[in-house]
Amino acid sequence: MLSQTIQDAINEQIKDEFYAAHLYLSMSAYFEDANLPGCAKWMRLQSEEEREHAMRFFDYVNDRNGRVILKGLDQPPTEFSSPLEVFEKALAHEQRVTASINNIYALAVKENDYPTQVMLHWFIEEQVEEEKSASEVIELFKMAGDKGHALIMIDRQLGSRKDEEDDD
Ligand code: MG
Repeated sequence: MLSQTIQDAINEQIKDEFYAAHLYLSMSAYFEDANLPGCAKWMRLQSEEEREHAMRFFDYVNDRNGRVILKGLDQPPTEFSSPLEVFEKALAHEQRVTASINNIYALAVKENDYPTQVMLHWFIEEQVEEEKSASEVIELFKMAGDKGHALIMIDRQLGSRKDEEDDD
């Protein structure tokens, strides 16, 4: 059985993961509108991954005989000044997610909740990847500046992203 503290923290995390899915889908819509289909696809796949993160926590709470409580989501931003800004906002969001996962881990250590610690190991590794991939795209856009040809190349590269559902 989960403690109330851990259960509340994970329910909050479920909301944050669904918000991330919502945010990245909003970013995908922005890229569709900006005629950058590769970036749009990348963000759409990212959104799907975030939904899977939410469901992983959802299943965990149920597996521990806890109670999932879904919460309302804020309106995500819809307008951005540039592709670079989109990925900077995505990285900032991932850094907040990392901090909150670390916070749940600290609670689990304090309460000697070993199953929660083990479950969070997957997320701790995943956050390293999430921050790394957003940072890499930011560097690409910084190098490209406002050179149209370079932006098209980056868009093509991001469009080659595969669905990562199978490798976890
Ligand atoms: Mg996530």
